[in-house]
Parts: sequence; C-alpha cells; structure tokens
Amino acid sequence: MKNNTNFYNPLMEMMPRKELEKLQLNNLKRQLQYVYQNSEFYHQKFNQAKIKPQDIKAQNDLDKIPVTTREEIQQKIKETKDPHGGRLCQTRNEPLIAFSPEFPPEGEPIYLVINYKDAQFAVETLTRQLVMIGVNKNDRILHMSWSWNPINSFLSPVYNNYTNQSVGDILNCTILHTEEVGPDAPRALFTSKFFKPSTVIAPHLALLGVKMEAEKQKIPITSLGYKIIVFRDRKTLPKAEDKKTAQKEWEARTQSMLDIQDNLFYAMDCPQHKGLHVWEDMYLVEATDPQTGKTLPLGNTGKLTITNLFAEAVPLIRYQTTIDCKIETETCPCGRTHARIIPTDY
Ligand SMILES: [Zn+2]
Repeated sequence: MKNNTNFYNPLMEMMPRKELEKLQLNNLKRQLQYVYQNSEFYHQKFNQAKIKPQDIKAQNDLDKIPVTTREEIQQKIKETKDPHGGRLCQTRNEPLIAFSPEFPPEGEPIYLVINYKDAQFAVETLTRQLVMIGVNKNDRILHMSWSWNPINSFLSPVYNNYTNQSVGDILNCTILHTEEVGPDAPRALFTSKFFKPSTVIAPHLALLGVKMEAEKQKIPITSLGYKIIVFRDRKTLPKAEDKKTAQKEWEARTQSMLDIQDNLFYAMDCPQHKGLHVWEDMYLVEATDPQTGKTLPLGNTGKLTITNLFAEAVPLIRYQTTIDCKIETETCPCGRTHARIIPTDY
C-alpha cells in the first residue's frame, strides 16, 4: 500500500495503464478534432499531409501527423504577420492572456496565450508535481524567475484573478518571488534568510548567484534551510553533475523540472529519481527520430516530442523539442503509472 500523502490526485496518478491509455487516446482524438476545426495552422498542416483527425485511430497512427518545430512556428509568424502564425483558437467568449516571450527572443518571438481553462490545467499539473516531491500545506516556496513568466501566475495567489485557484491557494503555501538574474541575488538571499523557504524553484544560474552572494556576506548556505531544490532551466535540463554538487553544498534534495513554455508543458521527477513524470491525461510524449519525425519504440533515444491534450488557446501537436531522451512506461517505484522522460544526461 503506497503512502497517499504524496499524491494530490491519487486516482489519476496511479490509474492502471490500460485505463490511462484509453483516457489518453480519447483526449487525443478530441484534441485533434479541435485543432483541425479551430487552428488555421493545424488545419493547413493536416491538409498538406493529406490526413484528417479521424485517421488517427490509435496511438501508433500519431506519426502520420508531421512534427511541429519552433522554427516552423517562427517561419509562419513571419509569413503571415500574425503574432500566433495562425495557431490561436478563440472558441470561448472570454479574455485571453498573452505572456511576453523571453527577451531578447531567439528569432521571431513566440507568445504563449492561455484561457481560463488552460490556466486551471496548468495549476493541476504543477500541484500534482509539488505534492509529489514532498511540498506540504503551509510550506514556503521561493520561486526565482522573471516576473511575467507564466508559471508565476499558476503558483501564486497574488495573480489568481484568472485561475480559480492557484497552486499556492490549493496547498495554502506562501509563494515568494524574486527575479532570477544576478542583481537580484541579494534579494533572494535576504528573502531566504528571513522566510527560510523549504522549497526553492530556480534555474541553476540563479542558485549559483545566491551562493556567491552568501559567500560574500559570509553566510553559510546551509543556514538558509533549503530542503528541496527544484532545478528549473527553461527548455533544457540541469546537468547531472550540477545537481550532485548542489545536493552536497546545500545539503538538500534536488529535483529536475522541465518547462517548455511554448507548450505549457511541465514535467518533474519524483524523489525516486527514475525520470521526469509526465501526466498522460494531459500530455502525450514520444521520443522521435530527429530526421523523419517518426515515433521511436519505447526505450529508444530520440527527440522529446510533446502533444498537449488540454490547451485550447494555442495548442501544439507533436511539438519536437531539441531534448534527447527516452520514454519509459513501467510503473515507477513511487506507484505512479504515468510515463517518465529519461533525459540522456540525468
Ligand atoms: Zn515516481
């Protein structure tokens, strides 16, 4: 019998695979219909590949749909002069929120747009993950990131005007924000000294900044009380070596988080460190051949490719990232049945 305290949605997180795969396939079929009807970008893409959503009857059919890449979206934005390159689906009469991309952007900027429902799904994803790694009610979480990063909105009660509930509301946690850039290291250090957050979510460089500042001020970093450090380097993953060093120096457990902003995609490893859990009721992940975009058999290394099964505003289907990984679907020792991403350097 598994200890249920580290599960936010135990029925879903431990759903038998057969049931989970059925649910995922249903969600996939619904999402393909939706994008075909509402996204100009995907309507054209399906037509060019001479496929209809109903041609995807099983997960093995998925690679009939060509992969989507960042460069392709950027090219479309350039061609169409539409900031979304024809991807935006406006199916609800409600306001949308567009998040500024990182600045300076790498090439044509890609704006993430969300509606209320998208925000709620993102909150569910992150709540499951934080409970999974041992965040408890009333904990303090320090999040180092630039202010308008979407994840702030999902974590923090301050911004919850368009999510019914943020992660902070659900877990009754105090969410502390500081910037992730160098000049804000003294503030992150001061905040840590003052509040003693048990969990820190930060890019590796931001953490190094706090460490250097602490050395300057002759404060032992272990006195800050970090228990869990979540490495969150957008679009990429922390190096195994960096995590090992941080564990030793901070005397804290480290976790890896993957945040692919263009796709509202979040994955994180559990304390068993058997790869990054993906919630398969919300996402479908594949390792794909970098040249052909074909799905590789489970356990083979390829490019992480993500299909978002819930997003309504700018859904992405078979979004091929540059991350090398393999996918495993064996039940994790933590009891979760959902797939895990095993990055090449993990
Ligand atoms: Zn696990």
